[in-house]
Formats: sequence, structure tokens, C-alpha cells
Amino acid sequence: MNKPIYLDNNATTAVAPEVFEAMRPYFCEKYGNPSSIHRFGGSVAADIEAARREVAALLGATYRDKDNCASEIIFTSCGTESDNSAIRAALAALPERKKIITTAVEHPAVLHCCEELTRQGYTVELIGVDGQGRLDMAALEKAVDENTAIVSAMWGNNETGTIFPVKEIAAAAHAKGALFHTDAVQAAGKVKIDVVDTDVDFLAISGHKLHAPKGVGALYIRRGIIFTPLICGGHQERNRRAGTENVASIIGLGEACRLARTQLDEEYNYLKNMRDAFERKIAAAIPRIRINGDLANRLPGTSSISFEGIEGESILMLLDVFGICASSGSACTTGSLEPSHVMRAMGIPYSAAHGTIRFSLSRYNRMEELDFTAEKLPAIIARLREISPFWEN
Ligand code: PLP
Repeated sequence: MNKPIYLDNNATTAVAPEVFEAMRPYFCEKYGNPSSIHRFGGSVAADIEAARREVAALLGATYRDKDNCASEIIFTSCGTESDNSAIRAALAALPERKKIITTAVEHPAVLHCCEELTRQGYTVELIGVDGQGRLDMAALEKAVDENTAIVSAMWGNNETGTIFPVKEIAAAAHAKGALFHTDAVQAAGKVKIDVVDTDVDFLAISGHKLHAPKGVGALYIRRGIIFTPLICGGHQERNRRAGTENVASIIGLGEACRLARTQLDEEYNYLKNMRDAFERKIAAAIPRIRINGDLANRLPGTSSISFEGIEGESILMLLDVFGICASSGSACTTGSLEPSHVMRAMGIPYSAAHGTIRFSLSRYNRMEELDFTAEKLPAIIARLREISPFWEN
């Protein structure tokens, strides 16, 4: 197969060559255990601390205490673990409070964790969004009360790219003494993040969404929070996440964060310009489409487009014939193709929600690839509409 046109970067990204090179020595040369007393292991521990400082720097966790800021970061196995750790730690920190507030459009890493917690006696309240995926702030402010332990709201949505007003949400949580967690898995490295300015208590990121490998993530835990670990065992990560460190991947995550930080503005503009040009081309060439999300405030490389009257899966299959990789807004459940919970929460009509495709870009995409995709799409959509029982002219 020829090199694919990979437009599914919100699912996962390629490891950056610089990241791969930074990781390389940690397999066969610097393989010491960072917990060892000897210098061979100790030097690896020092390298992990350097990676931690890079993660802290990307998240703006450097302003509070320059020397020790990195102690607010722990390494985890993925974004899902970071989300679960934050939510459960908040409940342990405020044991008398039994309510969790989150949003209807969170990733399953948050939603299913909360669902599980309802079986343990917690109440979960989901805050809705409008047709553009913008959070109902009035409902959120009304919902937070003295029984709320944690508010968890994502920074940027993985399907539509819509960015939530994290600073205001944090303020609403804190006004009632609740903690605030944000899932920044899709936002980290794409938009500026400043944990001090936004006043968040926990923030989750994942390596494989920003050109580090799969199987590594990080969690920011604001200094002073009593943190109960999700995984218990050895003393790694200052007793906050047991288990021998995934050294090479941690080094990779550090390098990925450094790269993202040093080219943040440039990459933002590059992705946004490419995405916007692509959407303009599609809108000009194909009737009855809808571009989903908060068009004024989206992650730069995410484009969610609903093509009325057809099914997303068929579009994906025909795109695949040309080597184009994207993803649909549907989750295949029990044999029926249900529109995603995000599309449903936004109230996108079924006939459009079914035909939703997410194109998600990275620094490695080129405009030619998007031009090629925009060139192929009109015929694909026309052909599918011709044979679709849902399409009415
Ligand atoms: N949160 C969001 C918003 C995501 O998009 C994802 C992955 O798609 C996750 C959490 C889970 O991250 P991981 O795959 O590292 O567990």
C-alpha cells in the first residue's frame, strides 16, 4: 500500500522522528532502573526529571515555583489513566461530597469512569451543550453545589474540536469548594495551556496524541492537593503512581512536549489555515453539508463535517479506496450505527449526524493531501446519495 493520506490524527499521531531519536538510547544502552542506587540507573532518573520539566513547561506549570514546578506532574500509561486518577483522587480528597459534574460530550475515559462511580453511590450530573457544542455555563453554575467533589470538563473536544471556557468552569467549581479537572488530551500541543492562569487542579494529557508513542500519558496535579494514587506499589513518582517507569516513552513524551511548545504558534496557524481552506473547498463543492462545532473557537486541526442523507461508514470506505484515512462520528453499538453521543448532545438531526466525518490534521499533513481529498469527496458523496434511502432531493 502507498503511503496513506492520514487525516485521523485525533485518533493517534505518528511518533515524531525527533521523539524517536530521543527515545532510542533508552532501550539497549541506558536501560537502568531509575529507582536503582547506582549511577547507571540514577542517570536515567535525572533524564526522567528533565522530561518532567518539559511536560510542566508545555502546561505552564512553571510559574508558581520555578525550582520545583515539575513535581506537579506524574507520568501515567495513557490519557484514560490520567482522567481516572484525577476523578478518583478528587473524590478521595473530599470524601464528604458525593456529586460529580461533567459534560455530555466528554470522552468515554471520563464518561465511563463516572458511570462506574454511580454504581459506588456517587451522583453524576451531565451538563449539556448547544448546537455548536458550546457548554451550557448557566446550567453548570446552577449544578455545582456544596455536595460537588469534582467538575470534569474537557479542554477541547475530540470530535468537533470545540474549546470549553476552562477558566470560567474552574472558577465555578472553586466557588463552591469543588475541585476541577480538565481532559486536555486533544488540546495539549495544539493550543496554549496555562494551568496557573486557568486555575485547574488536575489536567490530563496523552503521549500518542502529540507525536509521542502510545502507552504514556501525564497528569498535572496542583501542588497542595492530597492525592490518592490509582495504582499502588513501589515509591515511583513520589508515591503517586507505582510501577517501574516506562522510561523510553517518558523521554519521548518530554521531547514531544518540547517540540510542541517551541512551535506552538507556527503549528496552530499552519493547521488552522490548512483546515479552513479544506472546509471552504468542501462547502463550495458539496451541497447540504454542515460543519460541526464552535467555528469561532475550535482546535486548529479538527474538522467535523456532516454530509446529509448518507452514512459515515460508507464515506470512510470509499475514501479508503484512495488511501485517505479519516473517522466517523458514529460508534458501532450492537450492530446498529448510532450517531455519536457528541452529535446527539449537540442535537444534530439524525439524517446529518449519521453522515459525519472527522478529518483531523497534524504538522505532517500537506495542503496537497487535503486538496486531493477535497477533489475526491464530491463524487463519493454524490454516488452515495444516489443510492441512499435517506436522501431526498
Ligand atoms: N480524552 C480524549 C479527549 C481523547 O480524545 C482520548 C483518546 O482518544 C482520551 C481521553 C484517551 O486517551 P488514551 O488513548 O491515551 O487513553
